[in-house]
Amino acid sequence: MNKKERRNYIGGSDVHHVLSVEPYGCARRLWYEKRETPEDYTEADNPYYRKGNLLEEPAAQIFMAEMKTILKTPKHKTRNDFFSGHCDREIVNAAGERDGIWEGKAPSRNVYQQIKKTGIPLNYVLQVQYYLWLYNYLYGWITVLYVGDSLPIVEALHLEIKRDEELILQILDACHNFWRMLLNGPAPEQLAPTDARCQKCLWRKTCQGLGEISLLPEEGDYQIVNEPVLEQCCADYKEAQGLIKEAEELKNERGEALKILMGERQKVATSAGKICYQQIAKESWDTKLLDKTYPEMKMKFLKQTNYRSLRVF
Ligand code: SF4
Repeated sequence: MNKKERRNYIGGSDVHHVLSVEPYGCARRLWYEKRETPEDYTEADNPYYRKGNLLEEPAAQIFMAEMKTILKTPKHKTRNDFFSGHCDREIVNAAGERDGIWEGKAPSRNVYQQIKKTGIPLNYVLQVQYYLWLYNYLYGWITVLYVGDSLPIVEALHLEIKRDEELILQILDACHNFWRMLLNGPAPEQLAPTDARCQKCLWRKTCQGLGEISLLPEEGDYQIVNEPVLEQCCADYKEAQGLIKEAEELKNERGEALKILMGERQKVATSAGKICYQQIAKESWDTKLLDKTYPEMKMKFLKQTNYRSLRVF
């Protein structure tokens, strides 16, 4: 089902938008999308979407192997004209009947760790509850798969979600409201222009206006520009900063694990690489004491360098 066809109905992945659920949902954004409002910006290629699509089948295989269950390609379902869609897989019970929903997710490491700590995020729950209603099933499972950029770090969580009639009613009510607004207006309310969801929104100019969205408090020194290439470069830079942070966290975590695994050993060679964990003596200058004791020397050797510092936030 392509993007154009998806405009004609509300699908499971739209529900977090209908209810404007953080971290990504915005009803107004969905309203623009379904009304085919021209986007102000081109969508940047998102590596996590690509990764998610690639990992759906491996996640399904892991679920079947670990939960000793069968998953089948889902049938497309439609109810009441504008409720439609399909889950990632349907679960087949011991009698060979389809009776549950399965969704596969492959989030970033940070999100994966967060899910381990706090459980299934609301945006995932809403999607599964919507499918439970659409298919008329009582239970669903989500497999959250984390695959490190450097294989073979693979971890999977399998989390069950039971049908929740109250939540389903809230979802359907919000979907009906949204559909009425889609056909007759008005547009759903805007989020605050400083909301993180607005910063990368493809309709942020149409919705908030460039000035309004960019003028954050006490930032009057900034020159407001409308340069798509500069903007894209800035977005890429920030995404790279996120990846570096994620990689740093992984490196630190694995570093601590290596120290424990090394125990008393100082040098080890593995097929993946060599590990040295040994005592070393390091000499360094106490520059504070040096400055205090010989202040004239500091002035003599102090050198000033001028350069432009780049900060992106
Ligand atoms: S700019 Fe913000 S409020 Fe407007 S559509 Fe985009 S995410 Fe929603």
